[in-house]
Amino acid sequence: MAVLTEDLVRGDVRRWLDESWNPDLTLAEWWERLCESGWGAPTWPEQWFGKGLPRELAGVVNEELRSAGAIGPPSGLGMLLAGPTILVHGTDEQRERYLRPILNGQEAWCQLFSEPGAGSDLASLQTRAERDGDEWIVNGQKVWTSGGQTADLGMLVARTDPDAPKHKCISYFAIEMDQPGVEVRPLREMTGRSLFSEVFFSDARVNQAAIIGELNGGWAVANTTLANERAGLGSGGTGAVGGAMPGKKAKQLERRVGDLVAGRGRDRAERAVAGRQSNLLEKLAKDVGRNQDPNIRQRLAELHILNEVGRYTALRVKAAKASGRGPGPEANTAKLLMSRITRLARDLGLEILGADGMLMGPDTPGGGVAQELALFAPAVSIYGGSDEVQKNIIGERVLGLPKEPDADRVKTMPFRELKVGTQRAAS
Ligand SMILES: Cc1cc2nc3c(=O)[nH]c(=O)nc-3n(C[C@H](O)[C@H](O)[C@H](O)COP(=O)(O)OP(=O)(O)OC[C@H]3O[C@@H](n4cnc5c(N)ncnc54)[C@H](O)[C@@H]3O)c2cc1C
Repeated sequence: MAVLTEDLVRGDVRRWLDESWNPDLTLAEWWERLCESGWGAPTWPEQWFGKGLPRELAGVVNEELRSAGAIGPPSGLGMLLAGPTILVHGTDEQRERYLRPILNGQEAWCQLFSEPGAGSDLASLQTRAERDGDEWIVNGQKVWTSGGQTADLGMLVARTDPDAPKHKCISYFAIEMDQPGVEVRPLREMTGRSLFSEVFFSDARVNQAAIIGELNGGWAVANTTLANERAGLGSGGTGAVGGAMPGKKAKQLERRVGDLVAGRGRDRAERAVAGRQSNLLEKLAKDVGRNQDPNIRQRLAELHILNEVGRYTALRVKAAKASGRGPGPEANTAKLLMSRITRLARDLGLEILGADGMLMGPDTPGGGVAQELALFAPAVSIYGGSDEVQKNIIGERVLGLPKEPDADRVKTMPFRELKVGTQRAAS
């Protein structure tokens, strides 16, 4: 059997792209081809629409997609979180049901984890699911649900046995969003956009067959999702090329794929956070004639160095995963670094712009990207586990510091006896 090398993979994917990439296809047609080929999710097993490639070779596929000017696999939480979680914890029937529509972009997912009283302390969640024959009836409220407005399915964690200790009575469901008991209310952010929503469940229904993992074993499943989230965010997103949005509600599936190439589908904030901020701000400094200012140059150099450290940390995350260790402390440090980079980029961007930083909109200096980044910046140190939570995890699991005082007792007490609000980092 031939040893898999970077050159072999590059050759294979290039040949396939020469035959298959066509900017005149619709996005739906292109994603179907990509899904069938296995190049859309090269690290997934061949049996499940992948190529079974080690992670270090998967980057080659993205490079080739990029240099062919082709659009990558669907962005969003299906590819980033639901797919990898179902691969690990799902049954074959569930993999059959959910994975293809994730890869060919027909179904979009959202993550229904956080609640008004359960964010960092996710295990305090109150949304409950009660059994009714072959179905479960869901009641409760979620918040911060990114992409809730356009999602077809949600990764829902709900309490299925209030008499068990708090980490042991949670189940993980794949719930259909389009049903009478699910109400999605978009929230307006200070950027002016509505990236996330509140989601209310009033007697919503989900089938028993849609439980991912064991009944009451959802905590382990949720941790797989969270680990993938940290790793994905820490390494600057999925690395997908182009960033087209899946699902019919996003209204991109029938568009000509050539028109969506090169990030045109991405919004400004996403580009600013996922892109390399030092390049973005170097260009901005040149454009507004401040690139010779020694203070600005000094801080641009600092940002460049941090971006490079981030790149190497992302490579360490990939290497850890490739060696079978799964995303570990590298992912926590990568996530923390991203917050630091974003804060520096926010301050520097506004310094470069001076008074113009108070203006928003595409016709303002730099196209408004630095201003949008400044308004979006607080989100980065909150989503995917706040900075403080990342530090707790590093402190407890890497440095071996003592755990928070009541952690052990909380783990064994029935949930209904707990005073909700005792903060505990998701772990
Ligand atoms: C842009 C954005 C998108 C998001 N998308 C989603 C999504 O799609 N799905 C989803 O489920 N959630 C999503 N979230 C929610 C996110 O996961 C939570 O906001 C996050 O986990 C923090 O929870 P919280 O907001 O309830 O804050 P809290 O947990 O109430 O924390 C408040 C403050 O207390 C600190 N704190 C809390 N516990 C500890 C502790 N033990 N030790 C030290 N300090 C602590 C926190 O760091 C924070 O500063 C999103 C958030 C943002 C900003």
